[in-house]
Amino acid sequence: MKRIMIQKELRIAQRTLDVWGREAQVKKATEECVELASALLHDTGSDLAMRDKVIHEMVDVGIMLDQLALIYIVDPRELAIKRAMVFDRLERLLDLGVHLDKDAGVGGTM
Ligand SMILES: [Mg+2]
Repeated sequence: MKRIMIQKELRIAQRTLDVWGREAQVKKATEECVELASALLHDTGSDLAMRDKVIHEMVDVGIMLDQLALIYIVDPRELAIKRAMVFDRLERLLDLGVHLDKDAGVGGTM
């Protein structure tokens, strides 16, 4: 079932690119990232409506990431390898007890 959904989503992502084109979808991806960033910045952690907004924007960004993977011809294995590398680096920092400066905006990714 999951595989069927992924194939369906990829097919729709490709159709979206075919209809609106690379330039428009890169711009749309940028907009969706800004919308997620805005929702996160306005989230106080206690507003259920804002939680729903954050989830909505996470979905939007996820959909745009799928389109960006098609635009930039990203092999899912390449993405998985790079993701694992970032997690490994983060784990090493955590294991070293490196304190990341919260006020400087540095968090769980590098
Ligand atoms: Mg959005």
